[in-house]
Amino acid sequence: MQPPLKFVCDAMLGKLARFLRVLGYDTIYTQEEDEEILKKYKDRILLTKDKWLCKRFEGYCIYLNSQDVRGQLEELHMTLGLPLKMPQRPLRCSLCNSELVYVGKVRDRELWVCPKCGQPYWKGSHTKRMEELFESIRKKYIIS
Ligand SMILES: [Zn+2]
Repeated sequence: MQPPLKFVCDAMLGKLARFLRVLGYDTIYTQEEDEEILKKYKDRILLTKDKWLCKRFEGYCIYLNSQDVRGQLEELHMTLGLPLKMPQRPLRCSLCNSELVYVGKVRDRELWVCPKCGQPYWKGSHTKRMEELFESIRKKYIIS
């Protein structure tokens, strides 16, 4: 089995970072200077809209062309074969990237919470629109 993919998104890609976390990927969003990014994140896949930064990065980097998150997800789907499937349960905080902790059933709903920022998560609801977007991309690229 391949090790799970880890990402770092540059300042232009905050929305994409949130989507990747919802998919369960360990994703850092950074607004640091280029020099810091080049030094600190060689063990992650760098996603950027900055060609010059991508060129200088010593690790694996993907330059994303699209302006919108849908297009960016499509590019990752094509270049990395990213499945774009929601995990069975919420895994990661979309706000701060921490791994969620299972709380238990609260009023018949399974509940997870972020140990760092306290954000609660449950299945469905807030991720429904993201799921629809993932699905429409998957359908678009089904190879018959
Ligand atoms: Zn959090």
